[in-house]
This record gives sequence, C-alpha cells and structure tokens, in this order.
Amino acid sequence: MKTRTRSAAQTRALGIAVAALLRPGDLVVLAGDLGSGKTTFAQGIAAGLGVDDPVVSPTFTIVREYEGRLPLAHVDVYRLDRLQELYDVGFEELVDGERVTIIEWGDVVQRVLPADHLSVELEPGALPDERLVHVHAQGRAWRDRTERVESVVSSASSAEDG
Ligand code: ADP
Ligand code: MG
Repeated sequence: MKTRTRSAAQTRALGIAVAALLRPGDLVVLAGDLGSGKTTFAQGIAAGLGVDDPVVSPTFTIVREYEGRLPLAHVDVYRLDRLQELYDVGFEELVDGERVTIIEWGDVVQRVLPADHLSVELEPGALPDERLVHVHAQGRAWRDRTERVESVVSSASSAEDG
C-alpha cells in the first residue's frame, strides 16, 4: 500500500491514524533516509497513543520509553555499531508483548526483527515537502487488520486529493 503526504503535518496525521490500529506487542519498522520523516511519523504514533512527553529522536540513546494509552518504546539504530548493542539495550524484552515498539532504520537490522511487524518506508517525492509512504503489514499479528491498514492508508490518500 502506498500513499503520499505533502507536509510534515500530514505524515504526523498518518502516524496518528496508524496508532489507532496498534496493540500491545506491535512492532513498527521505519525505513527511509535521513530527513525522510521517520521521527515525524513516530511523533504521530506517539500522539495517537496519548503520549504527552515530547518525542525526540533517540539517536544517542538507542531507545526511549514513553507512557501513553499503551506504553511506547522508540528505538533508533542509526548509530548502532554492532548488532549486539541492540540486544544490550534489551530489544528482545521490549518487543515481547506489553508495549508498542517503533524502530527507526529498522530495515538495517531487518534480519533479527520479528516477522510480525508493520513496515513503513518513506521516500522523497517530487516536491520538497512531499513524501511517498509505503505501508506493509507483515505476519499473523496483522492478518486480521489488513483491511483497516488499507483503509487508513487510502483515507490519507483521499484527504490529499480532496
Ligand atoms: P528522519 O527521522 O527520517 O531523519 P525527521 O522526521 O526527523 O526525519 O525529519 C523530517 C524533516 O522533513 C522535518 O524537518 C520535517 O518538517 C520535514 N518534512 C517536510 N515535508 C515532510 C513530509 N511530507 N513528511 C515528513 N517530514 C517532512
Ligand atoms: Mg529520525
């Protein structure tokens, strides 16, 4: 599934809409170059989960945790030197059930991530503030939510058309 956003606010709004589908234990894998909007999208998810604290990029800490309607862990593996560091910060325990976990640059460590996840890839569009957003629900955990994901993504697209 693919949509297009034309501003940071629209990407954030898409994150808010996606948050409504999330359950404890969900993993959201964010891919895309620096400045593509991964943190902006993560901020939308956090807002949608009712997180009040400001969500900043966790680049230097690898993981930050927030309290919302569901607990949220925001992971950024950009500066990860070795895969072992991901285990050192307790990544496996993070994704074991109680919270929602978002991982920026998650595609880089894809091979050690759970098969069940929502993958969101952002890429530049034709205009400076435009982003193409590819959303794919993967694995059993998402099987019964595929239609809702489609609906969220397609309403983002129609909002843009309208
Ligand atoms: P990343 O985490 O991928 O490095 P950020 O979300 O931190 O990216 O930064 C994205 C930057 O691009 C922000 O300055 C944001 O305001 C800007 N921007 C412009 N248009 C968009 C858009 N359509 N979606 C997301 N961010 C956008
Ligand atoms: Mg970021």
